[in-house]
Amino acid sequence: MARYKSVLRKMEIVGAGRKRKCYHDEKHSVNKGDTVLEVSVKDGLSPHGYCQACAAKMIAQARTDLAQLEISLNASGETQSAIEV
Ligand SMILES: [Zn+2]
Repeated sequence: MARYKSVLRKMEIVGAGRKRKCYHDEKHSVNKGDTVLEVSVKDGLSPHGYCQACAAKMIAQARTDLAQLEISLNASGETQSAIEV
């Protein structure tokens, strides 16, 4: 059976190839070799890189958002809700 298309953007954990700034907060600096969450935004554009601290919060937020979406999906007859992705 075919794998379902992911609702998530393509993302991966990589080691920073160079010193850079966290895309969420430019005050967070990322040094070469630090762990970075890279999220692809659009073909042809560089992925957005987030520092490890922001990445942990973003992943936790995504888990909460997905859980809420699943609750909405399973709740029949209730008002539909949407989340910002
Ligand atoms: Zn950050």
